[in-house]
Formats: sequence, structure tokens, C-alpha cells
Amino acid sequence: MSRFWNRRVRNLEPYVPGEQPRDRQYIKLNTNENPYPPSPAVFEAIHRAASDSLRLYPDPECTEFREAAARACRVKPEWVFAGNGSDEILAFVFAAFFESSADAPGEPLPILFPDITYSFYPVYAGLWDIPAGTIPLTGDFSVNVGDYLVPSGGVILPNPNAPTGKALAPGDLVPLAEYLLKQGKALVIDEAYVGFGAESAVALTAEYPNLLTVHTLSKSHSLAGLRTGFAIGHPDLVEGLRRVRDSFNSYTLDRLALAGAAAALGDNAYYDEVNRKVAATRDRVSRELRDMGFSAVPSSANFIFIKAPGLPGKQLHEALRSRGILVRHFNKPRTADYLRVSIGTDDEMDIFLSECRKLIRS
Ligand code: PMP
Repeated sequence: MSRFWNRRVRNLEPYVPGEQPRDRQYIKLNTNENPYPPSPAVFEAIHRAASDSLRLYPDPECTEFREAAARACRVKPEWVFAGNGSDEILAFVFAAFFESSADAPGEPLPILFPDITYSFYPVYAGLWDIPAGTIPLTGDFSVNVGDYLVPSGGVILPNPNAPTGKALAPGDLVPLAEYLLKQGKALVIDEAYVGFGAESAVALTAEYPNLLTVHTLSKSHSLAGLRTGFAIGHPDLVEGLRRVRDSFNSYTLDRLALAGAAAALGDNAYYDEVNRKVAATRDRVSRELRDMGFSAVPSSANFIFIKAPGLPGKQLHEALRSRGILVRHFNKPRTADYLRVSIGTDDEMDIFLSECRKLIRS
């Protein structure tokens, strides 16, 4: 704590991503990375960009990447905003579309997001001094859209939700988009995990100028290390994000990231196959865990949210760690018995299952 920090920074509880220990080789099932490598087209494109043009500044318009995202989502490039990972885009979203007391006289209405959800959202709200309220998930960990039809400063929802993996159909979001549009507020759908079986709401952006969908290449395109993401929405929303970005760093994506991400978005055949494999492994592992007596929330993402029979989450987390397997434990009362487990290769998941079997027996 420094006396030079402002109040917002003093009150901040920074987001800590899943741990990345280096003391030994782990089976890493704690940060939802894709277990399979990126498309070969990505390596070729990065090679070409490195040898041709690294001396030059990157394209501040991110043209090639935005065009590739536009083709993938069937929108015009003016509807695409590119960012250094979707975390950066989410940070810009909070700065651009949600209000703090500095933006309007009096206390603005709180923005809403679920409890439980992605733990970055309260951090951003705190950083920008945006009042935030949470809406509990239902008993079976679902988002009930009807709960959000109340006056608010805007809504942000991940779909599928994290860490539960549960997804809504885009049609379920229509009444919310409609309601918020009437209130003049934004609806942000964070589609980080949409590539593993859930349906994107991107087509709804054509009808709802208050709707922004946020996408990442970190999960379904195996590019967490490249830090690339994009958002789709009405050009007025894109312009708001650009204003925020350009006040920080208009060269936000580097040449290698731009080239690699554009190439990834052009190779659907490769990624369809990879992600079908991840989804099949997820469904098999969920089945086997249920057979062992675990509960496993039905997941549309590349992770599962599970509870062991008669073993507290923290204890299972530690025991797996000491056996070389990293998973994620969220230490909140409602999730204390649950673990979030990313889907690895079939071989990795077989080791995970076999350790789970031993641990619940002991
Ligand atoms: N949204 C959600 C719900 C996530 O879980 C993550 C990954 N931690 C992100 C966004 C950010 O992903 P990235 O910055 O790698 O694009």
C-alpha cells in the first residue's frame, strides 16, 4: 500500500488468473487453454509477418484481422473491434459504456452481472468506480434472464457462463436486449467459450444497437499466448471502444498477433475438428465423473464445474496438485465444494479421472 495510490487503487482487489507454477511439470487444467496446437496456417502467417515487416509499426486499423473476423461472423468490418485479448476489450467496455458517478450527477444505477461469474468484472467496475450489483444464479447454476429485467446501468453476461459452463440460447437474450435498449443501456455478451457447442448471439447485433458480443481466440482457436480477441456490435459501439483504446495505445495489437489471428479465423475446418474433439472429451469425462458419484454441471464450454462425493473442493484441489494436476478452486461459500476443470487431451483426462477415482476411495 502506498500513500500515492488513489482511492480506487487502494480498494482494488486485483484479478489473479489461474496459477502458473514452474516447480514441476503439471497437467494444466486450471486456465481453460485449448489442449491442441493452433492451426498450421497460424505458424506460416506469423513466420511471414516476422520476416517481411517486423521493422514497421503494425496497422492501427487491424484491417486484415478485422476483415477475417467480419467474414467469420458474417458482418461488415466496421462492426468489428480488435483487441489484445478479450480482457483488454472488456476493460474498454467498462470505460466506454458503463457509468460512474463522475459521468452523471448523483449515483448511477448499478450495472448487473451474475454471482457466480467471471471474476474480472467486479475488478473492472472497481477500477472505473462503476457501481455494480450481482444477481444470484438459480439453484441449478443457471442464469435466469427475467431477473435482469430491472432498471440498471447495463448488463454483462458471459455465455456460456464461467465457471459453470452453462449456456443460454440467443433467443433467451432477446427480451433483455429489448428491455435494455428501451432504457438506453448496453448489453454485453462475453462469448469467450462459445466455440465448444453453444450458439453465438452475434446475429442479434444487427437488430440491437445496444448489444456487443465479445470474442477471444484464446480458447477455441488455441491462441491464449498470442493475446487476441474482437468484439462485434453496431459501429457506434465500435467507435466508443476505439475512442477509449486510442487514448491508451492505438497500436494495440502487434504484427505477429494480427497475422496469426487472421490466419486462425480463416481455418474453420481445422478448428471445427479440434473443438469437436474437446467437446467429446468433455462429455465423456462428465459421464465418467457422474458414474463415480460426482456432480457435474452440464457444460457447453471447454471446462466442467464439478463436486466430488464427500470431499471438500479445497481438499481435492490440493490432493490433485500434489499429484501433478492443476485445477481451479473458487473459495466462495456457494462454490467451496466445486472445482473448475479445463478439458485437456484424452490422455490427460484419463490421468485426471484415475486420480479422482483413487482420491474418493481413500
Ligand atoms: N471472458 C471470460 C469469461 C474468461 O474466462 C476469459 C479468460 N480468463 C476471458 C474473457 C479473457 O480471455 P482473453 O483475455 O485470453 O481473451
